[in-house]
Amino acid sequence: MKHTIISLTVLFFLFNSCDAFSQNIKIKKTTKPNVILLIGDGMGLSQLSSVFYYGDKTPAVSKFTEIGLINTSSATDIITDSGAGGTAFSCGIKTYNNTIGMNTDTLKVKNITELLSEKKYNTGVISTSAITHATPACFYAHVKSRKMENEIAQQLVSSDIDFFAGGGMQFFSNRVDSVDVLKALSDNGFIINNDKNKPLNQEKKYGFLLAEKAMPEMTNGRGDFLPEYTKLALEYFAEKGKNFFLMVEGSQIDWAGHDNNAEYLIAEMLDFDKAVGVALDFAEKDKNTLVIVLADHETGGFTLAADGKDYNTIKPSFASKEHSTSLIPVLAFGPGSEKFSGIYQNIDIFHKILELTK
Ligand code: MG
Ligand code: ZN
Repeated sequence: MKHTIISLTVLFFLFNSCDAFSQNIKIKKTTKPNVILLIGDGMGLSQLSSVFYYGDKTPAVSKFTEIGLINTSSATDIITDSGAGGTAFSCGIKTYNNTIGMNTDTLKVKNITELLSEKKYNTGVISTSAITHATPACFYAHVKSRKMENEIAQQLVSSDIDFFAGGGMQFFSNRVDSVDVLKALSDNGFIINNDKNKPLNQEKKYGFLLAEKAMPEMTNGRGDFLPEYTKLALEYFAEKGKNFFLMVEGSQIDWAGHDNNAEYLIAEMLDFDKAVGVALDFAEKDKNTLVIVLADHETGGFTLAADGKDYNTIKPSFASKEHSTSLIPVLAFGPGSEKFSGIYQNIDIFHKILELTK
């Protein structure tokens, strides 16, 4: 009996000292993490699964260990659009479909790049659509309707963004209203369309507008834009040496879903997975970078069902040309990643990131 009591006492001390030890580590680890948020627009579980069946190597996303699920409904609709879906991540609020960075009373709500800039973070957005499109816009603009892309372009000028890359030149140059947003950007310290092979100057801000409208489809020669510019942004931020927040969007997974085009969708998914690989490679080396992969909603009711009774052949198919409301997988890696497991709301992504970076 006495022996048991001693053992328990020893155990008690062991547990207590372990606790103190882990607390010490926590106190030492006061460095805030960098955050890379990769959004596959329209990427549900079947879209994500496709990279396991159609790629020729181990998918980058297979490295994630912390997995969660989010509900993506907006304030007004069971099924969200990318405006309300992106605003949930960028501002932490449920709002009405089609809005960008505003609440249901059409009042501006501070977004995550504004909040993190106050904490000396550098910030960036990369997208395979126009950089003024709904998802990237949620991270720097505040407008009543996602259709106001001229206004969104103008808001990018005075935003806190330090690096952006995507399409959408038509909203910056040769506009019908003759507002020269390109000039405003360079007046505000941006270098536009720097020679990609020249090193970036950490004292400057950079914008890459590489198409008039959206970037080309993967099936139409986009090449490695998304992984390459993700790498470029990460090298730039590493060079600057401060904390950073980077949003990377695979926009056209959604468009392929609306088109019910499985070949287009799978090509976009494989490209997105490559960009995820770039983010994970950086995070593995850096050891202070949180990588989060998720989607704003699912598009197309995509499935990888059997081709009739042939259980050895996948016949990718769609149930709809619209968005769906199935729960969306969240994958997380790096410091604080364990906070992203569980089933919760899309707006909690914002709050979890803020909690980790405060
Ligand atoms: Mg989008
Ligand atoms: Zn859509």
